[in-house]
Amino acid sequence: MKTLIIANWKMNPISLSEAKRIFNAIEKGAKKFNKEKEVVICPPAIYLFSLAKKQIKLGGQNTFYEDTGAFTGETSPAMLKESKCQYVIVGHSERRGYFNETDEIVNKKIKSVIAKKMTPILCVGETSKEREQGKTKEVLKRQVLAALKTVSVQKVKESGLCVAYEPIWAIGTGNACPTTEAQTIGILLQKIISQKYSRPISENMRFLYGGSVNSKNAKEFIEEAKFQGLLIGGASLKPTEFTRIIRTV
Ligand code: PEP
Repeated sequence: MKTLIIANWKMNPISLSEAKRIFNAIEKGAKKFNKEKEVVICPPAIYLFSLAKKQIKLGGQNTFYEDTGAFTGETSPAMLKESKCQYVIVGHSERRGYFNETDEIVNKKIKSVIAKKMTPILCVGETSKEREQGKTKEVLKRQVLAALKTVSVQKVKESGLCVAYEPIWAIGTGNACPTTEAQTIGILLQKIISQKYSRPISENMRFLYGGSVNSKNAKEFIEEAKFQGLLIGGASLKPTEFTRIIRTV
């Protein structure tokens, strides 16, 4: 199983020329590692077509769940597929928080991504308040099960669906989750998937960690906390730092 490293550029950078510059630099840096590691860049949707001819894989940061129609401002799974996306991030906490995405909407998006034969990266994570109140496990279980409601074992298998643990309090804060805590959550997520589907499904699934990953802490999440990949925001816009992360894991 290749370690999966996903770059989430969020709403950055501000120009296509800068997007190309960062993309090309990452592509150059990542080239020698592409046998053992899978690198995916999720730029803003408007840049996808301009970056589609490159070597590195592309992903969408979000999608709507219908393929076409009167949904002003949305981007559909069919359009992402057309722009050569192989992965789509679904249910990122910024989508859930700022754009009121519910578990039901996340579920529809997961199904629409799978229907277009792309791989969903399902993001789950608790707020700092939920963590303090000891509700982390309950929140994660609810998010995972709701997102995968009526998603068959076959679809999970075929799509290569991944689950990313992204504690909201760790995203963009410089305060990454302690490794032992992340490892406990990784085991919990595996158990949730194993109980819903089967042990082989959970063993073959890639679980990612995201939240203030940098070149100093990246290795811990793979080697100690036993995640099979990383979802990286801020550091993925800095080609040297991002390449260092790819190299170290
Ligand atoms: C993210 O946006 O998913 C993320 C993990 O961001 P950062 O790496 O900046 O914490």
